[in-house]
Amino acid sequence: MDALYSIDPRLAAYALQILRLCVWLVLLAVIFTPLERLFALHPKKIFRKAILTDLAYYFLSSLVPTILLSVPLAAIAFAVHRFIPASFPAAVAAWPLGLRIAAALVVGEIGFYWGHRWSHEIPLLWRFHSIHHSAEHLDFLVNTRSHPIDMVFTRLCELTPLYILGLASPVSRGGSLIPVLVILVGTIWGFFIHANLRWRFGPLEWLVATPAFHHWHHTNDGPAFVNKNYAPMLPWIDRLFGTLYLPRDKQPAKFGIDQPLSNNLVGQLLDPFLLWRKSPPATTDETHSASSSDAAATLVPPTAETEN
Ligand SMILES: [Zn+2]
Ligand SMILES: [Zn+2]
Repeated sequence: MDALYSIDPRLAAYALQILRLCVWLVLLAVIFTPLERLFALHPKKIFRKAILTDLAYYFLSSLVPTILLSVPLAAIAFAVHRFIPASFPAAVAAWPLGLRIAAALVVGEIGFYWGHRWSHEIPLLWRFHSIHHSAEHLDFLVNTRSHPIDMVFTRLCELTPLYILGLASPVSRGGSLIPVLVILVGTIWGFFIHANLRWRFGPLEWLVATPAFHHWHHTNDGPAFVNKNYAPMLPWIDRLFGTLYLPRDKQPAKFGIDQPLSNNLVGQLLDPFLLWRKSPPATTDETHSASSSDAAATLVPPTAETEN
């Protein structure tokens, strides 16, 4: 009986968090599994290849980045408090809450867009981000397939402008609520845009991201089609920066990457750090048969023509 009372409160908090994630997972599965069967874009089994790895990513990417983010976010909040005149965030804090939330969603989206774009354009960042693009079939769960370093980097790009502009602040109630809301809305929309759904939004597609918009981001159809559609929710930001690609009646023929990647979770987490250990998977395909010394060279983002 005494053992019950001697449970470490931190362990109890982690157990509670895992329980909360299990509830969310059941909720997501209850919503998306029937929708992905009724409105499937591609025929797909529920228990498809790599589902266990993606389930592990679901817990990993929900728990680890939160822990890793706390220190840099505290440093950013401190730097903003120290170097930006207090009158500036005070003026923004006086805006109505609805306006601050709307501004935070757009500012966070632009920050995420650039973090995501850099993850494609800078080879060091692509090592981590390529794991997200390794999925050869898309469904809602692929949303969580991300290396923790990749998630931390894009989250920092998303949240830092909010702190600089006074839209988020650790010392006010509304200020600490807004980043949570931005992350929550983005995460829920992230599950939707990865889903294997054929839904389109017609004339509203340039305004709000659909699965079709993000599926083109995952295409492996060739250099002319990759490195498009970086925004998670607002496609007009891609239009603004010249990376929108959303044909009306065409779908990507295939997803994934040509570069070698470990087929297990531990290997995928270590690969970006240990490139010299990377060896191509056993295959007779010419594009996968590079020697291990070539592996580092092949781990660069796919290049694209700039046409839209
Ligand atoms: Zn990407
Ligand atoms: Zn994605």
